[in-house]
Amino acid sequence: THFGFRDVDSGEKQRLVDDVFHKVARRYDLMNDVMSVGLHRAWKDTLVTAVNPPRNDAPFRHLDVAGGTGDVAMRVLEAGGEGTHATVLDINGEMLAVGRERLEKHVALGAAEFIEGNAESLPFPDKQFDAYTVAFGIRNVPRIDAALSEAYRVLRPGGRFLCLEFSQADVPGLDKVYDLYSFNVIPAMGQAIAGDAESYRYLVESIRRFPKPPVFAEMMRKAGFARATWTPMTGGIVAMHSGWRL
Ligand code: SAM
Repeated sequence: THFGFRDVDSGEKQRLVDDVFHKVARRYDLMNDVMSVGLHRAWKDTLVTAVNPPRNDAPFRHLDVAGGTGDVAMRVLEAGGEGTHATVLDINGEMLAVGRERLEKHVALGAAEFIEGNAESLPFPDKQFDAYTVAFGIRNVPRIDAALSEAYRVLRPGGRFLCLEFSQADVPGLDKVYDLYSFNVIPAMGQAIAGDAESYRYLVESIRRFPKPPVFAEMMRKAGFARATWTPMTGGIVAMHSGWRL
């Protein structure tokens, strides 16, 4: 791979990932819209529908890991009622700073909080959350199995784990278009918008290396999750995984 990635240790991997998001924090939301041609909105809507926060004032605690600029948390708070609370955790303080500004109103009301931390060792006690989400973040975490065990630990029994991640297109023809798009168009856009093609090449690589849905579902089961399933979206470009702590 471009970065000789298979040979770097997990500390180095995390550093490469951190570099990318430090560079793009301020332009991240714009880049998301441009690069996914707005599709990330539909993918996140599906995720939030699955989170299904109560519309009334029943207490509901949502944790969004690798939550970046708070995009998923914002949608969950908008969908939920007065009892819904969102915690956004990310390893990158700059992404969180953008999120804190965006969700200012919710933060002021005490409905949202932003916490700098690592998905591999969450700074929360056991059995705290009704839902755990991670959108386009888990492929960046060096030790995915550690992140999954932590997700299980902090969910209360009956809590749900939901993960959105890029996958591989499963529609004949679409896979070629997707390859062309991700290896050529995405780095070019990264160059144009953030002045950084290399970082985007690296992110595309990380999608290629991420385990296929059946393998990821098996990792979820190993971490303790029941009913581990996935739903392919947009011809398999994205998969949403779901599991329960029972
Ligand atoms: N979930 C957000 C969204 O969908 O808009 C942001 C996704 S962004 C592609 C990936 C995020 O993962 C970045 O904000 C990055 O800082 C974060 N991240 C990378 N490694 C992490 C780790 N080990 N623990 C927590 N967050 C991490």
